[in-house]
Amino acid sequence: MYSYSDTNEGVLLIAMLLFGLIGGYIYQSKGNSFFIGCLLGALLGPIGWLIGALRRPSKELLERQGVITGPTKQCPYCAELVKEEAVVCKHCGREIQDM
Ligand SMILES: [Zn+2]
Repeated sequence: MYSYSDTNEGVLLIAMLLFGLIGGYIYQSKGNSFFIGCLLGALLGPIGWLIGALRRPSKELLERQGVITGPTKQCPYCAELVKEEAVVCKHCGREIQDM
């Protein structure tokens, strides 16, 4: 006799694996944990992806992309980007003259 539940479980397992992997990639692209993304994707499917996609990128990622600080200028000493209003470079600690 055709066992509906066996087939269903196999498909579900593969689907969870795929959902988990995609969720993990979405989370990783936002600078968040791949593992948590996997977990959410596997448990919630597309809803987990949506949570990952809507999630604010981590502060670390934003800083790397240089979009968190708004207007920025380049430190003349260490060439790192610092806030426009910064007086002291947060990277090298030197005082920055108005440019
Ligand atoms: Zn500096």
